[in-house]
Amino acid sequence: MDCLFCKIIAGEIPSKKAYEDELVYAFHDIDPQAPVHILIIPKEHIKSADEITAENSAVVAHIFEVAAKLAKENNLSADGYRIVTNIGEAGGQTVKHLHFHLMGGRNFTWPAG
Ligand code: AMP
Ligand code: ZN
Repeated sequence: MDCLFCKIIAGEIPSKKAYEDELVYAFHDIDPQAPVHILIIPKEHIKSADEITAENSAVVAHIFEVAAKLAKENNLSADGYRIVTNIGEAGGQTVKHLHFHLMGGRNFTWPAG
């Protein structure tokens, strides 16, 4: 499949790994928008959060468990941080493989742009 993140999971494209297990892979964003900017993705190819169903939703719970662990490892918990997933064109999604941005180390504004 011609998917950038599937290729990263397969090791065909290099990445800076932050965490991996049988269900998920986490790596540092190539163009960080915060001092800590990690992408957490399911190993299963799911296009976006819009494609989450009763059959595949368990991995999302697991991703949030991994996010909390990575946040602690990166000392983000005390100050707070942000988890974002962009969906489709209007949502600003550029890579069509479900991913959660874990961002921290600076203050964020709201509403998001
Ligand atoms: P989104 O715009 O929500 O689809 O996020 C895609 C993210 O993937 C962006 O933050 C990009 O900087 C990041 N990205 C694109 N290519 C790579 C890569 N080869 N390694 C790491 N991160 C990447
Ligand atoms: Zn993929």
